[in-house]
Amino acid sequence: MRKLIAAAVVLIVFSVVAVVLWKVGKSRTFQFFGEIVPRVETSQKIVALTFDDGPTPEFTDAILGVLREEDVKATFFLIGGELERHLDEGRKLVAAGHEIGNHSYSHTRMILVTPSFVKEEIEKTDDLIRAAGCDKPTHFRPPYGKKLFALPLYLSQHDRQSITWDVEPETYPEIAQSTDAIVKYVLDNTRPGSIILLHVMYDPERKSLNAVKPVIEGLKQKGFRFVTVSELIDAGKRL
Ligand SMILES: [Zn+2]
Repeated sequence: MRKLIAAAVVLIVFSVVAVVLWKVGKSRTFQFFGEIVPRVETSQKIVALTFDDGPTPEFTDAILGVLREEDVKATFFLIGGELERHLDEGRKLVAAGHEIGNHSYSHTRMILVTPSFVKEEIEKTDDLIRAAGCDKPTHFRPPYGKKLFALPLYLSQHDRQSITWDVEPETYPEIAQSTDAIVKYVLDNTRPGSIILLHVMYDPERKSLNAVKPVIEGLKQKGFRFVTVSELIDAGKRL
């Protein structure tokens, strides 16, 4: 009987630890080491528009065109492997004055990974970002927002922050299917200091890409100004 109780206790403890680690692993606002920034606290009506993945030759010019028309600087979290294949697209993003962040080399979920794997993913991608013309890669965004021990530890040891987001329309399948729904969601949920996440580099139907212009115009109408992630962090108090 005693053994049975001991086994049950071990099982319960193990399950609780597993659930806690799973929740921390996917949290946008908490990690065990260093800073994670889902948004900043500010009274100014400023927001950061961020784009993940790529660059791809199919869609880089299109998103650059919209941002140029609207005179908005955004932040692109690029995948090292994609940048290696399409360095010219990365160069265009840098030359247009957008901020470039590191989004790992292979876009792997950084949950049960070794310190050496993390180092290689980050450093190799930093080298490629530099090759694209950006002298100082600063921010890192975990693929799928996932991290546990090795990644946050490495970033904190190198004085770098994990940047997540607080406005993510594409997370909801019913919203992601429609440009209008994406626009409405972003306009309804963005507040001062928000970090908006969109993916525009792969979808041939351009649902998110087509949302960018109306999102920018709608937020401008509400009095918002667009800044890069670094500018947002400088302007606000980190949460
Ligand atoms: Zn990604």
